[in-house]
Amino acid sequence: MSDPMAYLLRFIEAYSGQDGVRVFRLLLESNKELSYSDIIAETGLDEQTVRRVLYELNELGLVAYRRVQAPEEGRFIYYWSVNSVGINQALLNRKRLALEKLRARLEYELSTVFFVCPEDGLRLSFDEALEHDFRCPKCSSILLQEDRNPYLTPLRNLVEKLSSEVENERRAISS
Ligand SMILES: [Zn+2]
Repeated sequence: MSDPMAYLLRFIEAYSGQDGVRVFRLLLESNKELSYSDIIAETGLDEQTVRRVLYELNELGLVAYRRVQAPEEGRFIYYWSVNSVGINQALLNRKRLALEKLRARLEYELSTVFFVCPEDGLRLSFDEALEHDFRCPKCSSILLQEDRNPYLTPLRNLVEKLSSEVENERRAISS
């Protein structure tokens, strides 16, 4: 499984570009609230880019802002920070998606009888084997029915581990 934070950064890059990743990382690593001018100074990005990127990250629920009225002229200053609940939610959603895929894979493995070529190990479902008259499409050897699926145990363990993680994290976020 790939690192969830690396996945999140790739997701941000796809949505908001390298500039999005820079601003997000800055907020994540500085671990405090930053104003527009702080972010502009730290990243060297122009104001328009910083505003666009923060708007996009906010849309994704990954950053949040606090609005403070400046003493002069009644204008507002925005203080930005990472939205850790939103990040955890995004990471959890990613994990949930991986779990769904693994579960579907497990169900498929459980529901299908496989045939395997004794020469080259090619593995075919029942339907595929039938289509080739139970001969290997590569070398024509007679296919043998696989007595035990070696993927089942590790796959089942992984699904169990992930589903308890997802359940614990879901509870932690919603409490
Ligand atoms: Zn073969």
